[in-house]
Amino acid sequence: MKARLLFASQYGFVLLPLLLLECGPGRNVVLSENSAPSAAAASSDNYQIARERMVREQIEARDVRDARVLAAMRKVQRHLFVPEGMLPYAYTDQPLPIGHNQTISQPYIVAFMTEALELKPKDKVLEIGTGSGYQAAVLAELVAAVYSIEIVSPLGEAAMERLKHLGYSNIQVRIGDGYRGWPESAPFDGIMVTAAPDHIPPALIDQLAEGGRLVLPVGRFFQELVRVRRTPKGIKQENLLPVRFVPMVGEADKARQ
Ligand code: SAH
Repeated sequence: MKARLLFASQYGFVLLPLLLLECGPGRNVVLSENSAPSAAAASSDNYQIARERMVREQIEARDVRDARVLAAMRKVQRHLFVPEGMLPYAYTDQPLPIGHNQTISQPYIVAFMTEALELKPKDKVLEIGTGSGYQAAVLAELVAAVYSIEIVSPLGEAAMERLKHLGYSNIQVRIGDGYRGWPESAPFDGIMVTAAPDHIPPALIDQLAEGGRLVLPVGRFFQELVRVRRTPKGIKQENLLPVRFVPMVGEADKARQ
């Protein structure tokens, strides 16, 4: 039963009008260059009921149980991270286009990956692939400090602006290639990657604190969500879920194995 639900959650969105990879290019959707939500949308929260339903039906129903993660998903206003034309879909069970051929991930995947990081309030977390900044905001609700790297500068800059406007003072965004992590601020208790390399970037393992967790999609067409843990006895790796993300670009591309 659980397996069927998980499978449906991963591929269910193909039944919907948009056909998107996690963080992948949108089809049949025209986006305006202005991806900021309107002032009216930003100043009020008319979406609370939709968000509550999203958490209950898409996330809790699929066995995400961590109470802190569920509270963060209830709190962060996803509609403030999508382009205006996508507002009616902000709380639907699918990734959505955010411009530059990228997407904001499906809410369930955001919650699942966040829970898989097993975060504690004092943790310091690195995210590779800032995109809209939504995942960074969810992380920032749960930990002391979030570092996030985005390779597409207009996306990174828009996310920085949005997160600052929303008052997230515990998030730092850097424009660049996340393949080599953020060594000056390492080690990290948690590292999350939201674009898929075909191998685990060695620098990210190096930058894990003792007991730290790294969650990332790995593979080309067929990908697995993998969790790597640094334990006193060494590195432990487990497969969590089959997924479809777009490839990590930059050095990961050149180093494809
Ligand atoms: N977490 C985002 C969604 C990410 S989509 C959100 O919540 O909205 C994946 C992102 O990874 C894209 O924005 C893409 O530009 C970025 N990306 C791809 N390769 C990267 C790399 N090597 N370093 C940093 N960011 C990368």
